[in-house]
Amino acid sequence: MTDRESLLNISKEASEDDGAIGVISGMPTDETGLLTNNTNSNDNNQTEPIFYVRSRTTAVSRPNYESLDYEVCENALFHDEERKRLQERFSIRKDVIRWIIFIQIGIITALIACTIDIIIEELSEFKYKFLKNAVDNNVPMTDDSDRDLAIPFLYWILLSIVPVSVGAALVTYIEPITAGSGIPQVKSYLNGVQIPRIVRIKTLAVKAAGVITSVVGGLAGGKEGPMIHAGAVVAAGISQGKSTTFVKDFRIFKAFRDDHEKRDFVLGGGAAGVTAAFGAPIGGMLFSLEEAASFWNQNLIWRTLVASIISSFTLNIVLSTYHGLDGFTFTGLFNLGKFDQPLTFEYFELPIFMLLGIAGGLLGATWNFMNTRINKFRKRYIPWKIGKVLEAVLIAMVGVTLASAMMFFISDCRPLGNDPTIHPVQLFCKDNEYNAVAALWFQTPEATVRSLFHDPPGSHQILTLAMFTLIYYVLSCATFGLNVSLGVFIPTALVGAAWGRLVAMLLFYLFPETNFLHPGKYALIGAAANLGGVLRMTISLSVILMETTGVETSFFFPLIIALITAKWVGDSFNEGIYDTQIEVNHVPILPWEPIPQFKGLKARDIMSKPVICIKLQDKAHYIYKVLNGCNHNGFPVVDNVQNNLRSKGRVCGIILRSQLIVILLKSLYVENKRFWVPETSIQTFRDVYPRYPSIESVRQLDNKENYTVDLSMFMNPSPIRVNTHDSVPKIFQTFRALGLRHMLAITNENRIAGIITRRDFIYK
Ligand code: ATP
Ligand code: MG
Repeated sequence: MTDRESLLNISKEASEDDGAIGVISGMPTDETGLLTNNTNSNDNNQTEPIFYVRSRTTAVSRPNYESLDYEVCENALFHDEERKRLQERFSIRKDVIRWIIFIQIGIITALIACTIDIIIEELSEFKYKFLKNAVDNNVPMTDDSDRDLAIPFLYWILLSIVPVSVGAALVTYIEPITAGSGIPQVKSYLNGVQIPRIVRIKTLAVKAAGVITSVVGGLAGGKEGPMIHAGAVVAAGISQGKSTTFVKDFRIFKAFRDDHEKRDFVLGGGAAGVTAAFGAPIGGMLFSLEEAASFWNQNLIWRTLVASIISSFTLNIVLSTYHGLDGFTFTGLFNLGKFDQPLTFEYFELPIFMLLGIAGGLLGATWNFMNTRINKFRKRYIPWKIGKVLEAVLIAMVGVTLASAMMFFISDCRPLGNDPTIHPVQLFCKDNEYNAVAALWFQTPEATVRSLFHDPPGSHQILTLAMFTLIYYVLSCATFGLNVSLGVFIPTALVGAAWGRLVAMLLFYLFPETNFLHPGKYALIGAAANLGGVLRMTISLSVILMETTGVETSFFFPLIIALITAKWVGDSFNEGIYDTQIEVNHVPILPWEPIPQFKGLKARDIMSKPVICIKLQDKAHYIYKVLNGCNHNGFPVVDNVQNNLRSKGRVCGIILRSQLIVILLKSLYVENKRFWVPETSIQTFRDVYPRYPSIESVRQLDNKENYTVDLSMFMNPSPIRVNTHDSVPKIFQTFRALGLRHMLAITNENRIAGIITRRDFIYK
């Protein structure tokens, strides 16, 4: 087969693919869908018709995600730079700069988190104070038959739908990538999948505004996921020393402008973000490692920890100052409230904790299942933007209505004095009493978790907590997946805390003479179990819960029992919510382990062939045509080509589409070498990172048709090669561990036989 046939063949394969590709519209095609290319050429190979795979006209069944280039391209230009740096002792300086960037990431992420936190706190304070006054002034307190909640209800609806509609509109119309928690997106990014617009400044601004409006609007969500995302954007922005959005290059940190370096900073940013959300530095770092990271090493962990600690320290300073406290004594850093008494447990409680874990696993798996169904329904039946905004508003209204109905129908009055809430609402209660139902609803979800952990025994009726659990379970399930920026951690913890406390109350009701049934303790275990059931994390969650509540290390054991049991039970039904979301959106992330179906397969069973290759010295217009004719991002560079069959050539390296485009754009041809060689360096390629121009931006080559490109100094001369007989599970490990984008399958004679990309590991 000639190269001409090979290109055609590839095209046919592509056309039979999953529909993510198609014939470009508006281009002249014959009925087979082939573009007729009339370029004059001396080379027979260059007149082949090339199938266009750049855009699609039919429905997309699977989005066509591209990968990131985590493999460092160690080409001749890279080695030149390394040599120069060695002379200038730059590698030591680069290391120091790296540390400085991590520290900056910690500080800036914390400052953003503080700002979000303070705005949410102030606005919520205003909202719930206003509602309390509305209740006090408009609800007659006396007669049961005279109950009327209409005016506060209307105010409440208004105070919910205004911020929620603003938040949903921002997300829907300005930056849809900011919808949801952001953790699945950051996780996919760290796994090597390019998620468009995920780390842009605009994304950060919308995310911050989105989370503030949604939490203040009273939706069942929290700020932790958005904080991770915010940290990731900060990291990606700072480490690059330039903003593509504002077209501003500060001309610093140029050495860090590649996917590999950026990935490590993003991990640090994510950790700093969780830390800032919870005030939990170790938990923040572990959360990033356990949930988000796909690659790590000792140095990276160390730097990530420093970013987290700096973030928590900054948070402490700012919040202590904001609350007017001396030193760094702000106890609000225990976000979920510090337990006054050390939490103790009896050994016979361990089976109870395990049962709570089982309940958490079952409830979590059901929640994930229902949430996935709801989101699939949404995707199918609510495609319009306005519909998405209205849906968020509707859910906010349903939430307020259910909460008001609960307040209306359940009389749960408690004596004042015992009341831990800041603004106790009297609502339908006698003087010197407050309404326990209103106390649960008239605050942010995070504050409610705090109340459930720390309210003294006897603060609620069983019915109150049972209804609250039910309503919040359903509400949070319907909320996660709306087009708003919200995380799932706090509502999940809240549901768990509510049913955990409920279990303690029920047990106490059945066995009144027991003294180990501390409701806060059971609320904490319930929260852990529910979190384990939904998120399926263990280490970081237990550490975050410990750091945010200040419980002693001895209580780690019950927490981990509940978490692990919940995870095991949940895992036997479905995956954690973040992984489920990734799967539903068909994001091709590589799992930790190869899937069982790979057992017994060889590289030749999954590789693509014939491969579109480029000769070590090839004609400019062939390269131009290849780039125009296919969507691939990596091309093996070959020599020793016999019968003009590039697809059977001997492998010398690999070259990326982005590099080829820069070569064509800058006319880096052999014929005019003397003009560009002196000023061409690896920086020439970095300058256009990360928004590489597309092939459309390269002008028709016209008189440069027959110019030659010599790829020897640009290509990566050491691509990872595997033999066609190598086992797939083994090559998967290599691909995964090295963060590869392309893997070349070769014959025993080092001739190209096939190419393997992320897609081949996932969809074959
Ligand atoms: P990624 O999508 O992971 O960023 P890529 O864009 O280079 O990498 P795709 O073009 O999306 O890879 O891969 C789609 C299919 O085409 C895969 O099955 C892959 O094996 C195959 N493929 C990739 N590069 C080539 C090539 N140069 N020649 C022939 N087939 C290729
Ligand atoms: Mg691709």
